[in-house]
Amino acid sequence: MLNDARVYAYSAVLMGSPILLKLFDDNQTLAGQVFRLIKQQENLFTVNRAASEVMAINHAAGQHPVVVSQPVFDLIACAHAVSLLPGSLFNLAIGPLVKCWKIGFQGHSVPSDAALQARLALTNPHEVILDADARSVMLARPGMEIDLGAIAKGYIADVVQAFLRQQQVSRALINLGGNVQTVGAPPDEAGWAIGLKKPFGEEGALIGVIEVCNRSVVTSGIYERYFEQEGVLYHHILDPRSGYPLDNALLSVTVIADRSLDGDIYTTLLYGLGVEKGIACLADKPGIEAIFVTRDRQVICSSQRHFSFRLLDTDYRLVH
Ligand code: ADP
Ligand code: MG
Ligand code: MG
Repeated sequence: MLNDARVYAYSAVLMGSPILLKLFDDNQTLAGQVFRLIKQQENLFTVNRAASEVMAINHAAGQHPVVVSQPVFDLIACAHAVSLLPGSLFNLAIGPLVKCWKIGFQGHSVPSDAALQARLALTNPHEVILDADARSVMLARPGMEIDLGAIAKGYIADVVQAFLRQQQVSRALINLGGNVQTVGAPPDEAGWAIGLKKPFGEEGALIGVIEVCNRSVVTSGIYERYFEQEGVLYHHILDPRSGYPLDNALLSVTVIADRSLDGDIYTTLLYGLGVEKGIACLADKPGIEAIFVTRDRQVICSSQRHFSFRLLDTDYRLVH
C-alpha cells in the first residue's frame, strides 16, 4: 500500500476477518455506513452463527425447501453452478466437512477417517435443489450444509464497491480479509499498489506488488488459516473427493478480475485445478487473470492484461 498522507484508513473486524477501508477524505460517516452494510450482508450469508438465511436452509436439510431473498438465492445459484462445472473441486455443499475440521476456529483437530467418510456422503452438490420460481433452496439429506465461505467475501466486496460508486466516491479501496476491491486509483497514480504476501513470512513481508485500477485482487492461500499437527500442515481449502485439505504444489492463488465475486470463485477453483489446468481454464476468460505461487517458490502469471506485477523478494522467481 502506498504511504500517502492523504489516505484515510478505517478498520474493523467483521466476518472473522480484518476489514480495511481507504478513502481520500476524512469521512467517518461513510466508513460507518460501509461497515454497517458489510454487517448486514454477513447476517444473510454466515454459517458461523445460529441464524441467517443460509442457516435456515441448513436447519431444514432433509425436511423442506426454504424461501430466501433474491441476493441469497442468486449467490447460492452461482456457487451451485461453479460446483457443477466439470472437474471443479469447488463445492458449496462442503459445510459438513468444514464444520468437522474447524480450521481457523477454536477446537480444530484432525478428524478420524470414519468421521470424514460420513461427512463426505453429505456433500453432493447435486443434492442441493434450487427452484428459481419459488426462490427456494432444499438440501436433500439431513445433515447437509451449504457453506459460502469461499465466495461471500467477494460478493460483499462488490456490494461495497457499488455503494461507494453510488455515493460518488471516485477513489477508494476495500479489503475484506484478502478480498480487495478498488474504485479508481489514488491521486496522481496509475493504480493501487497491493502487496502479495510472502507465505509464512514475517508480518508485512511481501513477495511483490500488484498494481491495479478499478479491479479486484483476491488471494486465497494455505498460510492464512491452518493448523499443524505432528509436522503436517492442515489448511482450510478442502478436497471434496477425499475430505482432507487439498494437496498440491501451490501456496497461494491470486485472481485479478473486475468483480471480486469472480476473484473469490476463481481463487478457490484455480487452487483446486493447479497451475497447468488453471492457466488452461483461463485461456478463454480474458477478464480473469491469476498469479500462482508454488511451493518451490515460483511466481507464475496466467497473463498480465489488467495489472502489473513487481517482484520484491529474490527468494522467489518470476516464471513466464
Ligand atoms: P479465504 O477464507 O481466504 O477467503 P477461500 O475464498 O478460498 O479463502 O475460501 C475458503 C473457505 O471456503 C473455507 O474456509 C470454507 O469455508 C470454504 N471451503 C473450503 N473448501 C472448499 C471447497 N472445496 N469448495 C468450496 N468452498 C470451500
Ligand atoms: Mg475468499
Ligand atoms: Mg475464494
